[in-house]
Amino acid sequence: MKKVYSTEILANAWNIKNVLEQNDIEAVIKNENLFSVSGEVPFIECLPEIWVKPLDFVRAEQIISELDSSPEDVGPDWTCASCGESNLSNYSICWSCESSHESSHENDLSNQ
Ligand SMILES: [Zn+2]
Repeated sequence: MKKVYSTEILANAWNIKNVLEQNDIEAVIKNENLFSVSGEVPFIECLPEIWVKPLDFVRAEQIISELDSSPEDVGPDWTCASCGESNLSNYSICWSCESSHESSHENDLSNQ
């Protein structure tokens, strides 16, 4: 097994394990128990870690980096530049006229 990720937040570790398993990657969380008794152990030594099989390592790393770059809370609603309708932040195209969100958010394109 190889360590692919570590986090200070156990919930993150669980979230990533779930996503990896949805992608048919077997993932193990190490240190989750140590973490719960961290009063006795230096903090840095008990960060929860995600371990995967070497075979899955590259794919797991890729999935995790995509997760890190696309947080679920993507921000406020946006207003369509074409028709002026208000759209939820997780819509990538306008519900009304199907214009793409990106066309009204030039700055976001630099992340692509
Ligand atoms: Zn529109």
